[in-house]
Amino acid sequence: MSEKRNELGELLTDAARRAVAYLDTLRDRRVAPDESALRGLTDFDEPLPIDGCAARDVIALLDRVGSPATVASAGPRYFGFVLGGSFPVATASNWLVTAWDQCAGTTAMSPTASKIEAVAAKWVSELLRLPKDTAVGFVTGSTAAHVTALVAARRAVYQKVGWDVDRRGLVGAPRITVVATDDLHGSVLKALGIIGLGRDMVIRVPVDGEGRMVVGRLPSLDPSTILIAQAGNVNSGSFDDLGALAERARSAGAWLHVDGAFGVWARTSPKYAHLVTGLERADSIATSAHKLMNVPYDSAIVTCRDSGVIEEALSITTSYAVQSGEREPNHFTPEGSRRARGIDIWAVLKCLGASGFGAHIESCCANARRFAEILAMGGIRILNDVVYNQVLFDLGPDPRRKTVLTLIQAEGTCWIGPTVWQGAPACRASFCGWSTTTEDSRRSAEAVLKARKQILTEGP
Ligand SMILES: *Cc1c(COP(=O)(O)O)cnc(C)c1O
Repeated sequence: MSEKRNELGELLTDAARRAVAYLDTLRDRRVAPDESALRGLTDFDEPLPIDGCAARDVIALLDRVGSPATVASAGPRYFGFVLGGSFPVATASNWLVTAWDQCAGTTAMSPTASKIEAVAAKWVSELLRLPKDTAVGFVTGSTAAHVTALVAARRAVYQKVGWDVDRRGLVGAPRITVVATDDLHGSVLKALGIIGLGRDMVIRVPVDGEGRMVVGRLPSLDPSTILIAQAGNVNSGSFDDLGALAERARSAGAWLHVDGAFGVWARTSPKYAHLVTGLERADSIATSAHKLMNVPYDSAIVTCRDSGVIEEALSITTSYAVQSGEREPNHFTPEGSRRARGIDIWAVLKCLGASGFGAHIESCCANARRFAEILAMGGIRILNDVVYNQVLFDLGPDPRRKTVLTLIQAEGTCWIGPTVWQGAPACRASFCGWSTTTEDSRRSAEAVLKARKQILTEGP
């Protein structure tokens, strides 16, 4: 037994040593893996082993072949998609929680996970200044948060017309109308497909030049409507007018859901809170914790103003349930058995505090602005009003744009991705990581200018 314990200790120490060595390289290593690292991945292509090997050899292989082929998206100069790094405290809490291996479905299974997540839920609600008694669930991503929130929305809307959707399902049910911004994120459509409301059934409201829903173009809403607004357009980072939309939803008796995957955190800084005025009036909100909150994958938050409706939709009864009288984590998530994701969120908020967290958001936004300013000074056209952490810019038409992006990625200083903005090819940089400094932002902008200059002089 003690031999096994020693082995486990050595294994974890070895993994920690390797992890620290890896993280030490993050600041300076190239952001995209090089060709030889990618070719090395074929070492994993082996037949299912009949006989196993020592655990330490497994970890050694993982590190030797896997680590070099990672994308340094947790590092300071990765601006692709909308990914975040991970605060040191969150990586560390994640490890300890993994060692605990708690099933955080119910309080009886893990009083410690249940307690810490209850505190995290309360803190998130306070941080976002949501109404008291708002329900908070810890899920895997904003996509899962949309599914969860829209299941609650569906239940509430059907309740008003006397249809018990949880028992009777959707066959023969009255129609629900979903209204959303035309520039909605694909995850919303995926969630609508999953819950049976249909990807193609959404009434889409036109947007303005920044990608914000034009409130004046809303169709008439009624109590059978789910209105989906956006706090943080995935391209421009712009915000729908939540106050006006909440007003329209409330007077019509409609449900307002907010896709705030990365935008809701504007609420935590006095400089940016005005972008999400009215957030407290949303019926439900989805946000990712693995993006701007910088906890490890995968982690997200769903909130529901009426805690009864989400709990009634998601709680289950089993013959072996043990009643605790406490908040049962899996009454707020689709998952039954689950990882205690909320603990990493608790760790970040405990470590940074509300003010430190607000400062983190401000720093991401300041880096975005600085990056945009340097590009603009270098003659690159910025396509959006940089109100938050997203920068859209123009590297010309394809194939020039593609060639410049390939060159930027191959050069390795930073990683920036392509997108389509209001029908035209564009480029996007998203500032989400705690470790990005002003200097990283400058260096990266200069790498973009240099690649562009090279292609402009040499041709694609
Ligand atoms: C990233 C994103 C999502 C999806 O979030 P996941 O955590 O990847 O599921 C939804 N909406 C917006 C605006 C996003 O940026």
